[in-house]
Amino acid sequence: MTGEPLPLADVFRRIIRTSGPISLAHYMAESNARYYGAKDPLGTTGDFVTAPEVSQMFGELIGLWCADVWIRAGREEPVHYVELGPGRGTLAKDALRAGRRYGFEPMVHFVETSDPLKDAQLGMVPGAIWHDDLSSVPMTGPVIFVANEFLDALPVRQLVRMEQGWRERMVGLEGDRFVHVAGAQPMEGAVPPERMDAPLGTIIETSPAAAAVVYEVAGRLAEQGGAALFIDYGHAEARTGSTVQAVAAHRKVDPFSAPGEADLTAHVDFATLARVAASRDARHLGTVTQGDWLRALGIEMRAEALAAQAPQYAAEIAEARERLIAPHQMGDLFKVMGLVAPGWPDAVGFRER
Ligand code: SAH
Repeated sequence: MTGEPLPLADVFRRIIRTSGPISLAHYMAESNARYYGAKDPLGTTGDFVTAPEVSQMFGELIGLWCADVWIRAGREEPVHYVELGPGRGTLAKDALRAGRRYGFEPMVHFVETSDPLKDAQLGMVPGAIWHDDLSSVPMTGPVIFVANEFLDALPVRQLVRMEQGWRERMVGLEGDRFVHVAGAQPMEGAVPPERMDAPLGTIIETSPAAAAVVYEVAGRLAEQGGAALFIDYGHAEARTGSTVQAVAAHRKVDPFSAPGEADLTAHVDFATLARVAASRDARHLGTVTQGDWLRALGIEMRAEALAAQAPQYAAEIAEARERLIAPHQMGDLFKVMGLVAPGWPDAVGFRER
């Protein structure tokens, strides 16, 4: 068929044969750009299901959080709602509907690069304005940022301790197969001093792309006022080891098996991102588990109210609530990081610090 792009695996093979191994970050960035550019991967018929697709309660409680913090900060207008990687637009639709009841009627901005997903978002939130990145989001008025399962899709870089020292973990070829290979350059300079003597084989994973996003968001909070919620699976303390994984059709697959055809993600290192935010004077409210956060926001009451309105769906509603908050489901693995502008009040769901 004409017009079909060359499979990404073939593109990578050609690049590697011509100029040598590529970085894992390059592999991941290109793979996800191809993946999200080609289709809508969300939902039961797609590759994975996210919290807003599990239940309207998720977006509604986020909308209440946004409205609450904005009201307590003084209801300044115009106010912007900026969502990063909004998927199908479900979270935004539910959040904005819930916020509207409290007078929170922001200008809506979506940072999204995928054409199929932009189409879906347009259907859900017709008045939104789309951006390729944060640089074109207006510079005046407070901004409430929301990002669910966005940071985990951004490329990571890995360093590995070898016999010969610290090296970048690259992607090379063995025949036609992609394999991890060590980069040629010494990388000692990029290793935190406390990790320098880690055992052979130790992997340090970092996401410069995620750090850059949080740096920009925190800077906007300091300049313009506002608040931010980053929700993702990940850990609140620094760790070692690779967390890169690929998912297609709800199953884990080998990240090297078919680049561009599976969702590549990595755990989010919230401890580092909190430090990045603090470096720009945004206030880190805390990083808590999704289960604790949703309970603090009142998910149990919301589930009861929904079940009372629609008793025929009571079992589904209870199941969705459990999926979002139960420790062995999404409740513990997913974390919620809250940031506010200097001078903005504390916001619901984060313990006193
Ligand atoms: N937040 C949604 C979707 C999560 S999937 C939900 O919870 O359902 C990841 C989202 O981030 C998709 O919308 C994808 O197209 C978008 N995305 C991934 N990488 C991106 C990038 N570099 N820039 C902008 N959007 C990106």
